[in-house]
Amino acid sequence: MSTPLERDLIRQSAATLAEAIAEGEVSAREVTQAHLDRIAEVDDRVHAFLHVDGQGALATADAVDASRAAGEPLGPLAGVPLALKDILAMKGVPTTCGSRILEGWRPPYDATVVERLRAAGIPILGKTNMDEFAMGSSTEHSAYGPTHNPWDLDRIPGGSGGGSAAAIASFEAPLAIGTDTGGSIRQPAAVTGTVGVKPTYGGVSRYGLVALASSLDQAGPCTRTVMDAALLHSVIGGHDPRDSTSIPDPMPDVVAAAARADVRGMRIGLVRELTGEGYQAGVEQRFREAVEILEHLGAEVVEVSCPHFDYALGAYYLILPSECSSNLARFDGMRYGLRVGDDGDRSVEEVMSLTREAGFGPEVKRRIMLGTYALSSGYYDAYYGQAQKVRTLIQRDFDAAFAQCDVLVSPTAPTTAFRIGEKVDDPLAMYLNDVATIPVNMAGNCAMSLPVGLAPEDGLPVGLQVMAPPMADDRLYLVGGALEGALRDRWGHLLIEEVPSL
Ligand code: GLN
Repeated sequence: MSTPLERDLIRQSAATLAEAIAEGEVSAREVTQAHLDRIAEVDDRVHAFLHVDGQGALATADAVDASRAAGEPLGPLAGVPLALKDILAMKGVPTTCGSRILEGWRPPYDATVVERLRAAGIPILGKTNMDEFAMGSSTEHSAYGPTHNPWDLDRIPGGSGGGSAAAIASFEAPLAIGTDTGGSIRQPAAVTGTVGVKPTYGGVSRYGLVALASSLDQAGPCTRTVMDAALLHSVIGGHDPRDSTSIPDPMPDVVAAAARADVRGMRIGLVRELTGEGYQAGVEQRFREAVEILEHLGAEVVEVSCPHFDYALGAYYLILPSECSSNLARFDGMRYGLRVGDDGDRSVEEVMSLTREAGFGPEVKRRIMLGTYALSSGYYDAYYGQAQKVRTLIQRDFDAAFAQCDVLVSPTAPTTAFRIGEKVDDPLAMYLNDVATIPVNMAGNCAMSLPVGLAPEDGLPVGLQVMAPPMADDRLYLVGGALEGALRDRWGHLLIEEVPSL
């Protein structure tokens, strides 16, 4: 069991912890140790982590404490520990992407995101579980076993970044990094009652992020409060010359927006295509109540139509497999991790084939095959080419909607957390979890999911999604901050404080 002080430390927001460390009320080492103790206490049940790096985290914490003692200025999140999705390269630390094929691989370099976390004095507690190569919506496609949702351990924590979301929701870490190619930050946030942000495409460097679908991937913050997300976003965001898709313009001031937390005079568009059929009644109910609150807070709410969103899922499942079939070609048993059948008698091709057969799980193989087919000569125009055209139509829908509205809103996911095992053998049912999150990735916009209550029928968290135009990430925080504040006033606490203690 944790001591009362440690229990208290793990329940604080990252902003509060950072302030307490800066004021010398608590050391970065104590804060980091409290979270390592919490991981030791509950992670055998949650399984959020694939690898814990206690020594590395404590070394960073000690460096922060030494800087403070020397009177040096500390960054805004210095000493506050973080959980890192196991898809980001971290020098010398195992990085598996939830796959057997990368077993044993230790990157020789840090991702830019990791470099920035280190420069900010953020101790990295370890690497979090995920669906293999970020393909999935439940974390059940991890080669290392599923992560469990802290609200109900028999349920999924979402995916692909279920480990990062579950680490936050179980108070194992106040901060985490996820990646979002079709919803993998936002959908886990929704089903775990936490906050998740997919920044504008190009807003956070992809250097050192193992590529799933390069035109869609984006790393972002997973937290329990909107302000914590803003603080983390500002640490990891901004231009990086090592990523050719990184946006050179200065990033919007998300921290100021989270502090302002004001929707007065904003026009909020409710996307008609992202409600109704297929959405659980309790999800829709909590979503509509939250929209009413935004209206009370002074926003004008209008309904908008984005007719091509209906085709987003179909187009995504051509574009993503196409890109991933190409990106995953590099895992050939020669360069990284696993090598199978290299007994001296076999050809290189045989070893590659045996390694890929043994190293990849069924979902990854399914998508590599789909993508290879979609890109093959004679089919390229009919599948990949058509999907790219749909992508343009989705972008135009967003352009038209943002000509009338400052932000758009929808439920983040159509249902609350489902049971482990319920959809794992039904790819289409699994894919439908991302029906509301995928359009944003297709257009390169930014979006946030934040908790808006528990569904009456099952008592599980519901997320609301706020979507904004590219490089208008600050608007997410204006809306998210305002809504979070109003809900906290109504409930007297944050939703996450209702999570059953493990
Ligand atoms: N669940 C979606 C998929 O399986 C999204 C994945 C992601 O965002 N990494 O592709």
